[in-house]
Amino acid sequence: MIDTWDELIHKCNSCTSCDLAKTRTNVVVGVGNKNAEVLFIGEGPGENEDLRGEPFVGRGGQLLDKMLAAVDLDRNKNIYIANMVKCRPPKNRDPLPQEQEQCLGWLRNQVQLIRPKIIVCLGRVSATRLIKKDMKITKEHGIFFEKNGVLLMATLHPAALLRNPNNKPDAFQDFLKLRDKIKEICDHTYD
Ligand code: SF4
Repeated sequence: MIDTWDELIHKCNSCTSCDLAKTRTNVVVGVGNKNAEVLFIGEGPGENEDLRGEPFVGRGGQLLDKMLAAVDLDRNKNIYIANMVKCRPPKNRDPLPQEQEQCLGWLRNQVQLIRPKIIVCLGRVSATRLIKKDMKITKEHGIFFEKNGVLLMATLHPAALLRNPNNKPDAFQDFLKLRDKIKEICDHTYD
């Protein structure tokens, strides 16, 4: 494990462990409070994220920020946001299993440094890898699962909500459940 953020970010930025390194513009390590009690994990950077070097900055990111704000969460204040893979998959395809495996060590290292109490999986890719293989996100979103002392919950990916706005109320309910859980178990998130 790398035990300083500076070194971790430096190593991520020069990583060429999988083929996604060949087509990326920037490595998207993550954004937010490095002492956050709540960590959000998406899938991988899209075009805007690749260009800016920050996760969730396109239309999906704007929707995510709105939903976060509704429950007093803010990427610049009290949460951290990362992805399963740190480099953009071409044409926004799902990251391949081997790409996720190669990149997982970086994410594990981030989790070890942040030590969150709650992890929220944004979408199917992170939910099936981090919560359980057969996770049915349309049925099991909003449910908390405990793993190694950390609570994990999945909600619908913001890009999926842009495609199917009818699902926004369901996702919002997940954020309300998250707010309640934070109030129950977190110490500083709403300080
Ligand atoms: S996706 Fe992850 S493992 Fe692959 S090159 Fe980028 S940082 Fe390295």
